Amino acid sequence: STSISPLCLSSSSFTVCPISFPPVFLFRANTHCLPFTSVLVLPRHLSFFPDWASLTLGVFVCQACSLLHRSIPHISRVKSVQDTWDASEVELMAAMGNNAAKAKYEQKVPAFYYRPTHTDCKEQWIRAKYERNEFEFIEKQEPYSAGYREGFLWKRGRDNGQFLSRKFILSEREGALKYFNKQDARDPKAVMKIETLNATFQPAKIGNPCGLQITYLKDNSTRNIFVYHSDAKEMVDWFNAIRAARFHYLQVAFPGASDEELVPKLTRNFMKEGFMEKTGPKHTEGFKKRWFTMDDRRLMYFKDPLDAYARGEVFIGSKENSYTVLAGLPPSTQGYHWNHGITIVTPERKFLFACETEAEQRDWIAAFQRVINRPMRPQEYAVEAHFKHKP
Ligand SMILES: [Zn+2]
Repeated sequence: STSISPLCLSSSSFTVCPISFPPVFLFRANTHCLPFTSVLVLPRHLSFFPDWASLTLGVFVCQACSLLHRSIPHISRVKSVQDTWDASEVELMAAMGNNAAKAKYEQKVPAFYYRPTHTDCKEQWIRAKYERNEFEFIEKQEPYSAGYREGFLWKRGRDNGQFLSRKFILSEREGALKYFNKQDARDPKAVMKIETLNATFQPAKIGNPCGLQITYLKDNSTRNIFVYHSDAKEMVDWFNAIRAARFHYLQVAFPGASDEELVPKLTRNFMKEGFMEKTGPKHTEGFKKRWFTMDDRRLMYFKDPLDAYARGEVFIGSKENSYTVLAGLPPSTQGYHWNHGITIVTPERKFLFACETEAEQRDWIAAFQRVINRPMRPQEYAVEAHFKHKP
């Protein structure tokens, strides 16, 4: 059998097309082992030539994805490009390639469907595509596209922190996600309006690979619930069902808006989270360590990262509206333990924070700067007004 030297498939056999994005790798034509010219488009998250390929699917994958592909060996047989390849294997890759695979396996991905990063349940995206073929047959999308979903999730108890099984119902018709404390209860424990619903994967905080933080507004304040399911597919289906419900809600609320305008509004990941120290409005109360979450323009602080609601919320407007972030604290400030201060100036008052490390200080300032540099949208003035009227 013809065996191809590993060199032929190492990066020296490919050239990067300098003008296309996502990057396109061209097989170098007329090399002795590749009697054809072929074009491969790489996954969008790759900017370098990958070390791995799935022989059975005919796609190149990155190191992290290769590990996920290994967990479904009946679908995807992974091989290093440094390995020795025989001619039939090379031809197989050339016959499919990432471009053609995308056209086949992603032909009917709903607009609302979340394309994950490596930190939020990417394995389920790979399984949905290649194992369950969900994006070739729309009837397989029913768990998240039907407009109604009900089932049980493990929900963290507000007071004792224990996860307990709770029934959840998502109904587009009712415009709400509800959960029930007792299985036969008629009245839900909480009704979360789709209008203000958000969900974000929080594996580290929740301690489950597909743990989901769901937030919603109640009386203009943020409420958190933390849920997971032992079957990751179930959790990802819930997440996409929430996105589908939000999508349809927004389509009605903003008729004429394009999918491209609505999709970024379906769910949002937090801009930054972590511990900082804070002091009170008089700046003489002493600094206390709190967990902070920057959710778009809402800076919230919690005693514990898994608290159901924030101890306080600060609205961060734009520079045009007199919001500023500065490194450091006013000279007279006392009582902090961490040395990397941040001062946020709002039209009302100054907020003083202290970070443990310089890197944290830099990251927080960058997060604040991002929203401060962005002009406020009309509806954000209404949100700002709610904050001003808070006692
Ligand atoms: Zn990857």
